[in-house]
Amino acid sequence: MAITVGVVRETTPGERRVALTPEVAKKLKAKGVGLLLESGAGAAASFADAAYKDTEIAADARAVLARSDVLLKVQPPSPEEIGALREGAVVIGYLAPHLAPERTRALRDRRLTAFAMELLPRTTRAQAMDVLSSQANIAGYKAVLIAAEASPKFFPMLTTAAGTIRPSRVLVIGAGVAGLQAIATARRLGAQVDGFDVRPETKEQIQSLGAKFLDLGVSAAGSGGYARELTPEERAQQQAALAEHVKGVDVIVTTAAVPGRKAPRIISKAMVEGMKAGSVIVDIAAETGGNCELTEPGSNVVTANGVTIIGPLNLPASTPIHASEMYARNLYNFLELSIKDGALALDWSDELIAKTCLTHAGEIKHEATRQLVEGTTP
Ligand code: NAD
Repeated sequence: MAITVGVVRETTPGERRVALTPEVAKKLKAKGVGLLLESGAGAAASFADAAYKDTEIAADARAVLARSDVLLKVQPPSPEEIGALREGAVVIGYLAPHLAPERTRALRDRRLTAFAMELLPRTTRAQAMDVLSSQANIAGYKAVLIAAEASPKFFPMLTTAAGTIRPSRVLVIGAGVAGLQAIATARRLGAQVDGFDVRPETKEQIQSLGAKFLDLGVSAAGSGGYARELTPEERAQQQAALAEHVKGVDVIVTTAAVPGRKAPRIISKAMVEGMKAGSVIVDIAAETGGNCELTEPGSNVVTANGVTIIGPLNLPASTPIHASEMYARNLYNFLELSIKDGALALDWSDELIAKTCLTHAGEIKHEATRQLVEGTTP
């Protein structure tokens, strides 16, 4: 039987993305599924109801939730949304399982099949479904634009009749998906860029973007292509080398993260005190506590020595058209694995399905979250 895929308006303050775009609606329709959209769900991302062809528009969220077999979300579902979904329905989106045990419990108790896109394995086959990557790209780009806007200097070198302006010196800390995009964006704006990361393989990636790899003498590759937490000795070494370097930079963009943990503290108060007046720090890690000791998530701080520290939240939502387009394509590529002739067919032998699943049939399927919520080890 053909399933109904539903989408509601995101209600989290500041969220402008939508989990279904007109382009993806068309692709889903071609797969034989029915589509049900809450009126205005795409409005904040500039997608009017009328742009969604062959999509039924419902006046309110309850009507969508009551009839959806699959609900596509950006932000995790609220308790009301979870309560209004039919038992056994599928939810796909960010579920932040490590942050809200009560939400996972509610998804389990409602017997929903919940897929947390954060849990998607980062394999080659999964790349087209990887929301962490697509949205991190946007965050890296936007962080540099925010820094350029807040900086009292030009980024590029300018040779003018009024003399030569030296290019800004930008330091990007953490060279994952967001960091590499930040480096590329700062280079496009003409800045002189240094980047560093604790994973040694990033050296070549940083250099290939025309930036310099800042070698702080610390290498900390962890498992699954991620970084591990630094030891206290490594941290001290990194801090000492970095303190010298930041004295000369105009802009720092920090993107360092360790999966499932608070962001590592890399820029100390003392380092900020050593920076030049007019310098700007944009801390993308603000959402998970910040890479800078002085970051205040969601606001700007100007220190006594004239350094501006910006801790933006939910950067992808500030570029909602492209963020939604990429996010919706990621969800489509994931959902497509489970649609056969318009019906839902979950293949649990597929590791992308099995490992991304958070709850199913009244059980928590992700072991680390199960232990967090149910408090027992196997
Ligand atoms: P992330 O958001 O978890 O972390 C951002 C960066 O911070 C990482 O590069 C990490 O090494 C770095 N970092 C952590 N602690 C640090 C410290 N103390 N100092 C400096 N830097 C620190 O990472 P991400 O952007 O999600 O990507 C992580 C890895 O996953 C990369 O190797 C990336 O290429 C890989 N990846 C693979 C796929 C895929 O194959 N499907 C998709 C996306 C990413």
